[in-house]
Amino acid sequence: MSLPHLPFDPSCCLIGGQWRHPTDLEKLELKNPSDGSTLTEIASGNENDIGEAIENAKNAFDQCWNTIPAAERGRILSNLGRLVLKNIDLLSTLEALDVGKPLTQAQADVRALARYMEFYGGAADKVHGETIPYLEGYTVYTLREPHGVTGHIVPWNYPMQIIGRSVGAALAMGNTCVLKPAEEACLTALTFANLAIEAGLPRGVLNVVPGLGSTAGAALCAHKGINHISFTGSVTTGRLVQASAANNIVPVTLELGGKSPQLFFEDANLESALPFLVNAGIQNGGQTCSASSRILVHRSRYNEVIDNMSQKYKDLIVRPAINDGALGPLISERQKSIVEDFISKAQKLNLVAQGEIDSGAPAKGHYVAPHLFADVPEDHILAKDEIFGPVQVIMPFDTEEEAISIANGTDYGLVASIWTNDGARQMRLAKKLKSGQVFINNYGAGGGVELPFGGRGFSGHGREKGFEALFGFSTLKTVASYHQ
Ligand code: NAD
Repeated sequence: MSLPHLPFDPSCCLIGGQWRHPTDLEKLELKNPSDGSTLTEIASGNENDIGEAIENAKNAFDQCWNTIPAAERGRILSNLGRLVLKNIDLLSTLEALDVGKPLTQAQADVRALARYMEFYGGAADKVHGETIPYLEGYTVYTLREPHGVTGHIVPWNYPMQIIGRSVGAALAMGNTCVLKPAEEACLTALTFANLAIEAGLPRGVLNVVPGLGSTAGAALCAHKGINHISFTGSVTTGRLVQASAANNIVPVTLELGGKSPQLFFEDANLESALPFLVNAGIQNGGQTCSASSRILVHRSRYNEVIDNMSQKYKDLIVRPAINDGALGPLISERQKSIVEDFISKAQKLNLVAQGEIDSGAPAKGHYVAPHLFADVPEDHILAKDEIFGPVQVIMPFDTEEEAISIANGTDYGLVASIWTNDGARQMRLAKKLKSGQVFINNYGAGGGVELPFGGRGFSGHGREKGFEALFGFSTLKTVASYHQ
């Protein structure tokens, strides 16, 4: 399938409300992961383009976005949410072609992006400071103010959802933005920015500079004109981003990887858990920061869970994204070889089930069948490292203490879930799990635009999503007035 017509030139950056080529006219090829073909060319922005984008964002902050009423900011974001939904066919097709995401999942991501705009549009005029009782003769209050120009670095796996939660919250609080989408997939970022203009977002409030991480991304993080950085991506890059932020002493939100566990106890309901045990691991081909790649099962139910998950795996067929299977291809040849390398290290493990690759899938697509391994030792690389592919491990436990120890035994701490009907155990474990989110008898809770999200340890720090993100994208000023 060829690329749909776009109402802008995808080899341009959006700077100050104008589509323009990068200053040195460098371009990158954008590939279709389903068949390896070239979709189009995109801009390879450099330090100059980033500098111009930041200057435009600063002007837009000073001249309008920080001063217009919060309700008006909210109205524009809500308009944008409606336009996103109106363009669901275009956006989901672009995401399927660009990311390799099955069409139904791409449509769900468009709805999530629209929901972020609706949520943050509605919240824009509802964040306020407080008055603080203090000494006689004083009136003390706090003001929540935007940081100024915020930088947003986004990966390729969920471009729309990640832009929604980070750019949406930043704009609602009155910040202006420079967005650097991933070089592997950036068409929905560009289309979203074009819709933002149509929705009435003033020029320069949202600027987009596509390009390489090592060039455009690094320049954005190092620039002294950036007042806050929101980064979603790998731990390795997260360290570099945090070092740049430290150099300029600016706050940074890091949303990094995960090795998220689901804990299935002896009294749990397998029928309701089963879709979550499997889907949370293989959704988006396992290329999800919150993918549940570890399934911990009480020994009394261990074989039953293995049998049921194995049955599900046999029905998993990997197809080209447009054909809308349970899984699509992985993003790139590089990602495919990383995942295959992990699988090759599992030769001695107990492979209990494997999905299938559709026989008609193009040879140049990046397809990997889902793999389910059982009896995986706690210290095996498959049980400890983030794979970012369709691979899950099942591990047995005998006691609650052992389950917690295994669950908390990696460097990560993003999401966890507990399957049990024992209320006291639910409360106990929710406290003990080292994790940014804990779900009880579910996993992921329908996307959770309203639910604060973020990690501990190598999963990062800071919170996005929900109301909490609005606090991260603002700074608090205390005003103490003395009057006799
Ligand atoms: P990555 O870190 O290589 O790239 C992510 C983004 O950072 C891209 O836009 C890239 O261009 C940019 N980048 C690369 N080098 C940079 C540099 N030196 N300075 C500034 N920016 C730079 O990550 P990836 O491999 O593309 O994405 C996969 C990783 O992202 C996984 O580890 C995954 O867990 C993580 N992730 C986390 C979340 C979350 O919310 N916690 C969500 C999605 C992905």
